[in-house]
Amino acid sequence: MKPKEFEYFVEGFKKLPGISKKSAEKICDFILRQDDKFAKDLSSRIMDLKFNVVFCSICNNLTNNQIHCDICNDSNRYNNKLCIISDFNDLIKIENLEIYNGLYFNLKMEIDSKKKNIDDIDIGLKKIIEIIEKKDIKEILIATNMTINGEFTAFYISSYLKKLFEDIEIFRLATGLPFNSSIDYIDSESLTSAIKNKIKF
Ligand SMILES: [Zn+2]
Repeated sequence: MKPKEFEYFVEGFKKLPGISKKSAEKICDFILRQDDKFAKDLSSRIMDLKFNVVFCSICNNLTNNQIHCDICNDSNRYNNKLCIISDFNDLIKIENLEIYNGLYFNLKMEIDSKKKNIDDIDIGLKKIIEIIEKKDIKEILIATNMTINGEFTAFYISSYLKKLFEDIEIFRLATGLPFNSSIDYIDSESLTSAIKNKIKF
């Protein structure tokens, strides 16, 4: 019989994305083999992250305890453009390309295309509409992943926004990217070309 602390740890860790019960048990076993400093360090990193990093209240970008992130605060950015991404890491990746100088909105998720009642899912449309109105957005690039869920999410958002804002141009990353590819795995050159050659919805 395993100690209750072991079970308690596994229960908690298997809630993490991509971590099965087996992986959680392996992590637990690994931590137990390390010295005390390792566990202390790991838990303080988790607390440090949770207490010092927040999502920007406008765009969901990560920020250090400010209400608004550096991008939303930057008056030099060309504010009539909005790029919608599904993960914070994709924002960093696009920023590093240095070809885009507009605002962002991080959905923090993609809609599961198999889900029913998708209108009940809150992907932040209210916040997107607020940005569009406040920043006078004229052009939107939807840079969700080139996967079934990513395409589904992009189509859902564009259809929703088109009904509300007839004058806004909505674009999707250019085709040519391999289907089922996450933005995270696309090389910088292909992503740059997909952004430059964006196609209209
Ligand atoms: Zn922001």
